[in-house]
Amino acid sequence: MITDNPFDGSSIEEEILGRVGATVRKFHCSNETEVIQAAKRADLVLCDSSPVTRKGILSLEKTIGIVEYGIGYDNIDVYAATERGIVVCNVPDFMTFEVADHAVTLLLALSRKLHKILPATRVGEWNWKKFRPIDRLDGKTAGIIGFGNIGRQVAERLRAFKVDILAYDPYIASENIKKLGAQPSTLQELLANSDLVSIHVPLNEETRHLIGENELALMKPSAILVNTSRGAVIDQEALVVSLRTGRPCAVGLDVLSPEPPNPKDSILGFENVVLTPHMGWYSEQSEQRLQEYAALEGERLLTGQTPKHPVNPQVLTTKRGN
Ligand code: NAD
Repeated sequence: MITDNPFDGSSIEEEILGRVGATVRKFHCSNETEVIQAAKRADLVLCDSSPVTRKGILSLEKTIGIVEYGIGYDNIDVYAATERGIVVCNVPDFMTFEVADHAVTLLLALSRKLHKILPATRVGEWNWKKFRPIDRLDGKTAGIIGFGNIGRQVAERLRAFKVDILAYDPYIASENIKKLGAQPSTLQELLANSDLVSIHVPLNEETRHLIGENELALMKPSAILVNTSRGAVIDQEALVVSLRTGRPCAVGLDVLSPEPPNPKDSILGFENVVLTPHMGWYSEQSEQRLQEYAALEGERLLTGQTPKHPVNPQVLTTKRGN
């Protein structure tokens, strides 16, 4: 059962899972009740952003695995799945370059003030002085919060612009951060010293509102902030308040909380906030790869093979022990 995904068809899943005799059914669930109705008799669940809650997991009659379309699985109650011996897998390796490209695109566009220049030139303004000041990137400092797959790719791209890199990631040893060409930093030092800040952490209880009022107050007023991770990593209300005081100077958000945003949400009203509709992951190639990789992981689960990306691998150990 596919509880939800944003793709036009499910022929890729049908072809791959059909090889092991599975029938694929696709739903468009947006809440817990719909997920329960769609998934309760499924052998395998594939989901994108629909909420697979504890109640939903308790209602599953024979599911052996849940595969998340993508890397962020904050919509799934993994603890409940683990308690029930259900393997949860994600697809972490289909779009790293796309998200890194998207984050750097936002950083570059905002630092060259395209958000101000494009609308003005379109209505006939031809006066570069109006957009002063713009600083050169060479010699600036970029802070990367979360130095995993995407964060490292962002660092690699920014180094080509001769930008110094600070990285905050308490789960990576300082020596390894240094080997990857960045300077290990605390979150506070990073925010206080960076001209460009890009966020690449997973959303969990520790990272929810990681960037709130206190953290925003540490940033340089001239800094640019980009978030392509998950909306709730930033306290959006605190960001709106901070933007009203002129800090940070420009913001690029591919992710919001909630998504889609309420049309009256104040975050939509700032000229210096550039929004994209959670599409950092997307390219024609990654879209196809995501469906394929999710289905292949499902095939491995249904045929008793070891999945490639379990997020609760302890379930596999327990099963083998039995
Ligand atoms: P990753 O697991 O490779 O890297 C995440 C890094 O964050 C890890 O190195 C981890 O140690 C670090 N981290 C964890 N908790 C932290 C904390 N409290 N403070 C600082 N660092 C912390 O994941 P990735 O592939 O780089 O993806 C990062 C996130 O990007 C995903 O979790 C997902 O939410 C988001 N994402 C967004 C899109 C999009 O379309 N916008 C697409 C894919 C992924």
